[in-house]
Amino acid sequence: MIMLAVESSCDETAVAVVRDGRTVLADAIASQADMHAVYGGVVPEIASRKHVEAIAGLTDLALSRAEVTKGDIDAVAVTYAPGLIGAVLVGVNYAKALAFGLNLPLVPVHHVRGHIAANYITHPDLEPPFVCLCVSGGTTAIVDVRTYTEMEVLGATRDDAAGECFDKAARVLGIGYPGGGPMDRLARGGDDGRYELPRAHVDGAPLDMSFSGLKTAVLNLAHNAQQKGEKLDLPGLAASFGAAVSGILVPRTMEAARRKGYGKVAVAGGVAANSRLRADLERACRESGDILYLPELKLCGDNGAMIGCQGYYEYLAGKRAGMDLNAFANRDIGRG
Ligand code: ATP
Ligand code: MG
Ligand code: FE
Repeated sequence: MIMLAVESSCDETAVAVVRDGRTVLADAIASQADMHAVYGGVVPEIASRKHVEAIAGLTDLALSRAEVTKGDIDAVAVTYAPGLIGAVLVGVNYAKALAFGLNLPLVPVHHVRGHIAANYITHPDLEPPFVCLCVSGGTTAIVDVRTYTEMEVLGATRDDAAGECFDKAARVLGIGYPGGGPMDRLARGGDDGRYELPRAHVDGAPLDMSFSGLKTAVLNLAHNAQQKGEKLDLPGLAASFGAAVSGILVPRTMEAARRKGYGKVAVAGGVAANSRLRADLERACRESGDILYLPELKLCGDNGAMIGCQGYYEYLAGKRAGMDLNAFANRDIGRG
């Protein structure tokens, strides 16, 4: 079964061709990151316009790389939530037109379910149930993945997402956008005990998280240093910051894994690329005896392959959309 998958929820336009869920025949991705870097964050209106420009050409590119024609496609999958509403709408409308024109089933896919599915592509043996830490630019949640299409959020951030926190910290420190990757690289040469940073607990909700205090602490350090004309130890700060983020995420993920007892832990989303987080989870899972599943680096960030993979499982579960499919800025992962 050949799935054509469309992703446009943030600042990557992607179109992939995926066979039987787990075999990626092609994944054509156009990143707009350079365009938004000037502004230090994604500008929604620019994102929408760039998706419109890129999407048809990427579809032709993906089909030719996969060596298939439009006639070979069996269904069209598309990210319909969550994301920047104008950006998601571009992909949804394009996918609708394709499905209508080719008379094919249209399968709506939750973007974060797609991030989780990136693990199925990297690990052909992985099947639910497992506990998945979903960490990206807009999401930070610990998810109980019961089946391919039945999921429940066990704990989530009450404020900022971890990726957003990386991006804001990097911006105030002047080390680039998007900031997660540069912070990660800078941290490798730093002392993670150099700065004491807060690791908040949410009272009465041991699996929930909060990152806003950590973000504010970095902003304050940066502003105070600027006022006093002092230089911060940037590698030390990046390392301390990475340790704090990981120190919030890892114990909660392991506690969720202990409660569920599946013996399998996965990670998903852009922040899953973080080397400190990966190393800390590897250590924690070695100690607990859980098997850890990490997506390969190129599948951590937004891509079309993950949407094609999850779209296949949604398709098998009977999920279909009509021409009235809408886009949503927010959507519970449990509702799909
Ligand atoms: P969502 O998936 O929640 O809708 P998104 O699609 O914008 O949000 P992704 O593209 O999945 O997010 O991930 C992007 C985020 O990942 C950015 O915040 C980026 O800084 C972060 N990131 C990327 N690489 C790393 C890294 N090595 N360490 C930490 N963060 C990283
Ligand atoms: Mg992006
Ligand atoms: Fe994403």
